[in-house]
Amino acid sequence: MIRTLLLSGAFLASVSSIAIAAPKNIILLIGDGMGEAEIALTRAYESDGKAGLYVDTMKSRGSVIVNQLMVEDPTKIQFVGESASGGTTISTGQRTSDGRVAVSAFDGSPIKTIMEQAIEHGYKTGLVTTSAITDATPATFAAHAQNRYCWKTGDEACSTHNDRPIVEQMLDLNVDVMLGGGQELLPAMAGGGGTVEQKAEGLGYKVIQSREALLDLKSGTKVFGVFGAHHMPVEWQGPNGVSADIVQIDQSRTVIFPDAVSCEANPAHEGIMPRLEEMAQYALDSLGSDEGEGFFLMIEGASIDKQTHIAKPCGTIGEMLAFDRTVEIAVNYAKKMGNTVVIVTADHGQATQVIYKPEAYTGTLRRDHIPGLYQLLRTKGGNELGAYYGTNNINDQAHTGINVPVYSYGLDNPEDLMGVIQQTEIYTVMAKYLFE
Ligand SMILES: [Zn+2]
Repeated sequence: MIRTLLLSGAFLASVSSIAIAAPKNIILLIGDGMGEAEIALTRAYESDGKAGLYVDTMKSRGSVIVNQLMVEDPTKIQFVGESASGGTTISTGQRTSDGRVAVSAFDGSPIKTIMEQAIEHGYKTGLVTTSAITDATPATFAAHAQNRYCWKTGDEACSTHNDRPIVEQMLDLNVDVMLGGGQELLPAMAGGGGTVEQKAEGLGYKVIQSREALLDLKSGTKVFGVFGAHHMPVEWQGPNGVSADIVQIDQSRTVIFPDAVSCEANPAHEGIMPRLEEMAQYALDSLGSDEGEGFFLMIEGASIDKQTHIAKPCGTIGEMLAFDRTVEIAVNYAKKMGNTVVIVTADHGQATQVIYKPEAYTGTLRRDHIPGLYQLLRTKGGNELGAYYGTNNINDQAHTGINVPVYSYGLDNPEDLMGVIQQTEIYTVMAKYLFE
């Protein structure tokens, strides 16, 4: 696409106009662990089954096949994904194995990412997440490591493969806007002397640590913003923070189903943490320009996954709604500005199942226990909604290998991301849009 720049004065006599390439932007939104079940749970709770989410209005929609390579033998396939391998697949177009950040599963060699390519081509870049900024998904765009947990100097994970700390790699890459959790990163020592905070400032970053500082920040500032000690607190929780739990059975082996509960705001987030859409809005205001090449921005709703791991449906729903509101902001930006592609997807599926009640055979159990963890919610419209987690009996649920959705807005050929696609194709479509 081209845009026409009108010139005036003396130039006008000889040249009425010249054509230059217009900036092109990609906003990639990744709902971590956002499978169809997490979306269905949220839709049921918030809209009582109506297609009430913003993503429900996006008509360009496909289904993504997710898998990763086996760590021990990368010629073999593991039919489930994870954030480091899934992020790598999206950021590089190549599959890798569990825990690897933009490196080969075979020999650990780095694979150039879409963000690194974008920077080489002169694009501005941004990473926004609700996890620590060094967590797997943002890391796979701006760093290379064989162990995703090598965040900072001194982390034991850095010694397993002699990785360079991810936070230092991200700062050295010169990403213009980085916003997420991870205040713990700042006092860590950085290579070459001084702390990570001093390194960031030395590279020209404004380091901020509060919502107020973000809301006051002048757009266009090169920023390293970390909110919360580790991952950012989530927006919602169950009553008093309770999660799904084992279904109780009394001495006569009668099943005692829990009463339906409503979700509530998490006091550790409300008004204290910047919301995902506030961070995203800052990044859009900051990176968007009529001049230059354009920008590549990745925005992650990280704790859709993290709350599902610990069987907290209210946490998942609150994060999913924040992510959905952020998608709307991104698409509205694209509609207003033009030349902007929005892609919304997930890195892998998660363990949520929407059921009514675990089968108990008329209330008296024929077995010793009901497997899994269960919580009954009361939806906004007053209906009962059961969330069930059956991949573990403790609070660490496993990812599942279901397909995840991909939605897009603004592609010349939206069919490229429709139907059933491989996760590698998302990279191909992004690279084609930005660089061809
Ligand atoms: Zn996970």
